[in-house]
Amino acid sequence: MTTSVSANDVDLFVIGAGSGGVRAARIAAGHGARVMIAEEYRIGGTCVIRGCVPKKLLVYASRFSHDFAEAAGFGWTVPPARFDWPTLIANKDKEIARLEGVYRSNLEKAGVEIVKTRAVIEDANNIRLLTSGARVRCGHILVATGGVPFAGHPIPGFEHAISSNDAFHLPALPGEIVIQGGGYIAVEFACIFSGLGARVKLVYRGENILRGFDDDVRSHVRAEMEMRGIEVIVGQVVTAIEKRDARYIATLTGGRKIEADRVMFAVGRKPNIANLGIEQAGIRTAPLGGIAVDAYSRTSVPSIYAIGDVTNRINLTPVAIREGHAFADTVFGGRPAIVDHANVPTAVFSEPEIGAVGLTEAQASERLARVDIYRTTFRPLKATLSGRHSRVLMKLVIDATTDRVVGVHIVGEGAGEMIQLIGIAVKMGATKADLDATMAVHPTAAEELVTMRQPTVRYGQEEAGK
Ligand SMILES: Cc1cc2nc3c(=O)[nH]c(=O)nc-3n(C[C@H](O)[C@H](O)[C@H](O)COP(=O)(O)OP(=O)(O)OC[C@H]3O[C@@H](n4cnc5c(N)ncnc54)[C@H](O)[C@@H]3O)c2cc1C
Repeated sequence: MTTSVSANDVDLFVIGAGSGGVRAARIAAGHGARVMIAEEYRIGGTCVIRGCVPKKLLVYASRFSHDFAEAAGFGWTVPPARFDWPTLIANKDKEIARLEGVYRSNLEKAGVEIVKTRAVIEDANNIRLLTSGARVRCGHILVATGGVPFAGHPIPGFEHAISSNDAFHLPALPGEIVIQGGGYIAVEFACIFSGLGARVKLVYRGENILRGFDDDVRSHVRAEMEMRGIEVIVGQVVTAIEKRDARYIATLTGGRKIEADRVMFAVGRKPNIANLGIEQAGIRTAPLGGIAVDAYSRTSVPSIYAIGDVTNRINLTPVAIREGHAFADTVFGGRPAIVDHANVPTAVFSEPEIGAVGLTEAQASERLARVDIYRTTFRPLKATLSGRHSRVLMKLVIDATTDRVVGVHIVGEGAGEMIQLIGIAVKMGATKADLDATMAVHPTAAEELVTMRQPTVRYGQEEAGK
């Protein structure tokens, strides 16, 4: 990495070498721009270093326990399995280091200059590099600083809680863990630790976990998690954490005390804008937090753009990448491009997995005049011999006026893979008739998506008949 820079001009200065920043830097350089990118931690950002990728590796690890248990029904005798956390973490770290190298070399090959430092904005066209103190004058600035774990409200003993960042580097697998939070990160880590053999208690202040997902999905996943031994405690929060020797005691709102090896907080993330110089540069923030941008990701300062989690639009890696690409094409490629944020498919790598795209039943019934819901739950074929009691949930949300598929919600093995593919059909405007006309692939779980014939719930049909 280069650390010495002269106060020379670049066309583009990117703050943050995460999903969005790296893509924007490479594409802008490909369009001929002189690009410098600053990263204060590790190249690859949240997704590669302490988000999607390491998490999915831990998810894979955690699912083996179920596979071992299910193999017996298919005739296999598996000797008692032993799990070694340090091996998993070391192998995961090796893969992350390899990926970081790939990201760095792709930037270098594209001709992007990398500076390992924290960068702050001085004004519309100047950046200060904190490591060297150098100032860089730039034609455009792209803020791609991502998000950081939200600490929640301070409680006594808060310093004892770990965040998702720390969870990737624990020296040992906790035997018992309390996780506070009900979003996808809290749920995923609850399932990871449980699958690896820990006793998990998930504490959430709301009435049910996974706010924002379809209500059927929320209750189905919660029931499945409980069936696997995770205790889901809703309507409560951790009010204090006390350290006692190597253990921690979490006190809940109602006074219940839970002793565990770790207490983890995953209560959300917030845009990473602290001490970045945005106020002094006159960059406006949005009412929901994050940097306010227009459809082209341009901030209130014309030479400064922002993409990814720092703008708090849809906080997912593929979205940050698309926004970075569109920015580079717009500003340096002469091809104005807007990212379409509608119908973004998404997965939660819980156990069982969730795949979702489009409107939930509640959203559709509020927004559309006539809605048909097709819903099924069934025991997957594999479970007949494995003896597992898990059920798959599939749900289609149809705009009954146009026959368009406006929402698909899946819980079950492979839901993330399924939603990527049906997401294409939804994006293309597929109708229920299109799904009906598609031949099933048998025997699969996904075939249910094209074989559901009778609506299970209908909204707005009386009005339509008038
Ligand atoms: C545990 C976890 C699991 C996740 N799982 C998924 C998933 O399965 N699928 C999915 O799509 N998304 C997932 N996400 C979300 C995904 O990681 C983010 O949406 C994505 O990384 C956002 O990219 P970004 O470019 O906006 O920012 P980031 O990837 O966060 O990159 C920002 C970078 O900027 C650097 N930086 C910040 N400030 C400065 C500064 N002043 N100077 C220099 N450098 C700076 C940071 O060190 C960081 O490297 C997950 C996130 C977490 C935390």
